[in-house]
Amino acid sequence: MNKPDYQLIIIGGGPAGLTAGLYAARGRIKTLLIEKGATGGQVLLTDWVDNYPAFPDGVAGFELIDKMTAQADRFGLEKKFAAVESLDLQAELKSVRLDSGEQLTCEAIILCTGAKPRKIGVPGEEELQGKGVSYCATCDGPFYRDQEIAVVGGGNTAIQEAIHLTKFAKKVTVVHRRDTLRATAILQEKALANEKIKFIWNAQVSEIIGTESVEAVNIRYNDGSTSVLPVTGIFVLIGVMPNNEILPLEQLKTDEGGFLITDSEMGCLDLPGVFAAGDIRSKLFRQIINAAGEGANAELSAEHYLGTRPS
Ligand code: NAP
Repeated sequence: MNKPDYQLIIIGGGPAGLTAGLYAARGRIKTLLIEKGATGGQVLLTDWVDNYPAFPDGVAGFELIDKMTAQADRFGLEKKFAAVESLDLQAELKSVRLDSGEQLTCEAIILCTGAKPRKIGVPGEEELQGKGVSYCATCDGPFYRDQEIAVVGGGNTAIQEAIHLTKFAKKVTVVHRRDTLRATAILQEKALANEKIKFIWNAQVSEIIGTESVEAVNIRYNDGSTSVLPVTGIFVLIGVMPNNEILPLEQLKTDEGGFLITDSEMGCLDLPGVFAAGDIRSKLFRQIINAAGEGANAELSAEHYLGTRPS
């Protein structure tokens, strides 16, 4: 085998990648973490994190990431801020091609490319994105001071961010397709007790209306009736889709949603030396603590692989 550039390459710098990087750097594995933007992933879209251990008063999303990054940096984790164009995972020596044309090789790889917000796919959504249609309450909430806005979704993200948005907006209407929320009880209680939050149950946004920017949304109830809700902003917070565009999906096993299937030790099926961690994995629960735990697990599996495979 030709000499690889790195023993381990980690793709993605969210909580999973940063934790894998921390473990690898501390374990003196020659490692490179590649991230296309800033480290942090979806946590940067989160205003406040209340359920990550060791922060009894909660912590801002960006601060949690700053601390994770600093901790990996303390052990000298090498990072490269660049976009990956393609990967070849089949050969013993894995190769990573960057969009600059640079090619890097490694013996083991951990895929931590994460997930991105799902869209509702209704007329007006694409056209008015950034003009009142948003997928990030933390980023765009302050633009809606004293305005009336809608949130679509009934999961943890929608309800947590609806509560956050009441810091700015005059009124937040949550549009949910069923009559019960998926969000955890503590968030439900907070949202239901918040006077600024109203609910439209058993209904979906069927169209987003506006010329220059969002002016209203059309609501279609499950019984077929319709109404118009005047709002200047709509936050679509209905779950996630995998960031799998750069992954060689013909080499990997995925579920029907395109998320990566791994074994219990984070190994990608039938691909020795290839591991995955965090929101890109096929799983039911996507939590920061899970992503961090999986990052640690994936790195330890990669270390085990590096130490036990025949040279
Ligand atoms: P989620 O849990 O998958 O919930 C998605 C919500 O959007 C559901 O209420 C779903 O309705 C609704 N939905 C899905 N597709 C829709 C469509 N086409 N039109 C209208 N509504 C639609 O997603 P999430 O809330 O983004 O959370 C993702 C993961 O992150 C979860 O594991 C969650 O627990 C985690 N998370 C945790 C926290 C926290 O612990 N504080 C905060 C944020 C996120 P149905 O309920 O009818 O399916």
